[in-house]
Amino acid sequence: MPDIIQLLPDSVANQIAAGEVIQRPASALKELVENSIDAGATEIRVYVKEAGKVLLQVIDNGKGMSGTDARMSFERHATSKIKKAKDLFAIRTMGFRGEALASIAAIAHVEMKTILLNADIGTLLIIEGSEVKKQESCAWSGGTSISIKNLFYNIPARRVFLKSDPVEMRYILEEFMRISLANPELFFSLHHDANELFHLPQGTLKQRIVHLFGNSYKEKLVPVEEETSIISIKGFVGKPEFAKKTRGEQYFFVNNRFIKDPYLQHAVSGAYDELLPAESFPFFVLFIDIDPARIDINVHPTKTQIKFDDEKSIYAIIRSAVKQSLGKYNISPTLDFNTEHAFSNFGHGKNGNSGNAIPSMPQIKINSAFNPFLSGQGLASNSTPAKTTDFYGVGSATFEKTEVEQLEMNKVVQEAEEWKGEKKTPYQLHNQLILSPIKTGFIVIDQQAAHERILFERYMQQLNAQKGYSQQSLFPQTIDLSPIDFALIKELMPDLLLLGFDLREFGKGTFVIDGIPAESIAGNEKSVLEGLIENFKQNAAFSKLDRRENLAKSLAKKTAIRSGQALSTAEMTNLIDELFACKLPSVSIDAKPLLLTFGLDEIFKKFDKA
Ligand code: ADP
Ligand code: MG
Repeated sequence: MPDIIQLLPDSVANQIAAGEVIQRPASALKELVENSIDAGATEIRVYVKEAGKVLLQVIDNGKGMSGTDARMSFERHATSKIKKAKDLFAIRTMGFRGEALASIAAIAHVEMKTILLNADIGTLLIIEGSEVKKQESCAWSGGTSISIKNLFYNIPARRVFLKSDPVEMRYILEEFMRISLANPELFFSLHHDANELFHLPQGTLKQRIVHLFGNSYKEKLVPVEEETSIISIKGFVGKPEFAKKTRGEQYFFVNNRFIKDPYLQHAVSGAYDELLPAESFPFFVLFIDIDPARIDINVHPTKTQIKFDDEKSIYAIIRSAVKQSLGKYNISPTLDFNTEHAFSNFGHGKNGNSGNAIPSMPQIKINSAFNPFLSGQGLASNSTPAKTTDFYGVGSATFEKTEVEQLEMNKVVQEAEEWKGEKKTPYQLHNQLILSPIKTGFIVIDQQAAHERILFERYMQQLNAQKGYSQQSLFPQTIDLSPIDFALIKELMPDLLLLGFDLREFGKGTFVIDGIPAESIAGNEKSVLEGLIENFKQNAAFSKLDRRENLAKSLAKKTAIRSGQALSTAEMTNLIDELFACKLPSVSIDAKPLLLTFGLDEIFKKFDKA
């Protein structure tokens, strides 16, 4: 037998390494910018074309490279940052594996121009798929410019898996925000296609935050500063009244490296105690400095997690530091957070605050011939027959009807018929459940789950039928968004319009809300949109809902009546009518039961009367 083991050619090894280091344009951007920072640059300009799929270019004014170093920098394990294994444990620079440039060069067309400080002549280097195509002297004014073109051009499988431009652009923005927050003393700019998205002058952290998130943040920030023997903490937290429904704006840096750590996030939120409205997230940008020996830095460079050897103390220190700051700035609860939820998401009223008066439910006429299993029938409420696709959205699961389920469904159809025949006054139990007699007994409906189901199906129908219903706002509200949420909304815009949102872009990071879905309450425009984004992001992170299902579900959750909501008889009757007009009236959009039936026979049996 001949020997069969071979060493992989470098180009192949590099492609494999690239898979780990460079997942998408944003990860390449991160590597380039971190190299520029390590090279001592004070000005870093980023140019992006088509969300980085066509071009990513970083130009810096750092110390540059000699011709030999320029060539060497693309070799695997080429780094000027570690000489001995011991250095690994004291590392404070950004990159430390000497893999980034080699990886990038393996999967893209790369052009580098660089010149050593005070040298007369620079170097131009062109590399395609690890192969040096050109190396020559060139005139160059200073620093280093690296362009990455056609990322993944030679790995079509990876290219195909890149997301749409707006999504990839969001990743890029997120990366850019993190790096520029961590380095406010450096100038950054970001250009996308023909637009300059950010122009960030050198300044303090506070100025950087204001430049990134908008002028309104000037009044929202509370400084945090604490020095202990274990760690030091510095940065800003947002005043509680500005907490948002979305978690997006939370930044932790450990030794200036961005990390995502739910445990530490919790430490910050915990410090707010009851100052925070339910389901809202405070803004923060916090820097923790710690002896590198006390953390596990041997983490993958693309990972955003880190291990501390004394997590509990760090948690306690962060919590108390934030608490103290909030206390010092004399922030006390001024808002009554409990009143907001009551009926605020229900009804059509323009004035959602009329004390006990309950806005009326939309009036729905029941189509008594309706049968959820006959296709071609739209919702009973719809006068124009809907051409919906036949979806059975049950949360994330596509509903496959088994025999048992078919029997269940037949039962619901029967219940619906009986309910229509009976139409006795429904009764609300503990402001949560609706009881209603049917011929054979009674049904119990979870009011919130039922309304979510109704709205979900309605929104899906709007999305599929390309027709939305909006209520125009008397007083259009503006909403300031982080660049990431801004990009998300832009991406979702066509579907948001179908759902009944009427939005206008209004300068950088701002939308004007001219109208919201008919089911939402006027005056609540901002909160509806913020809640929708938050739900959408959470669903996107934890489930495989398709985008429209996610949107419909998120909005249904945001606009449905809540448990705890008192309902009038007319509202309950309407709710039941609408529920029985749904395709899946007995299953909640989280795939749980929402409707129970109790037969008289069962009950009499319990009384020992049967
Ligand atoms: P690492 O950053 O882990 O050392 P990289 O592959 O990212 O590995 O970079 C390899 C080397 O190329 C760096 O160690 C540095 O010496 C050099 N280099 C990369 N980018 C720049 C830059 N913008 N300016 C100066 N030197 C650079
Ligand atoms: Mg590097």
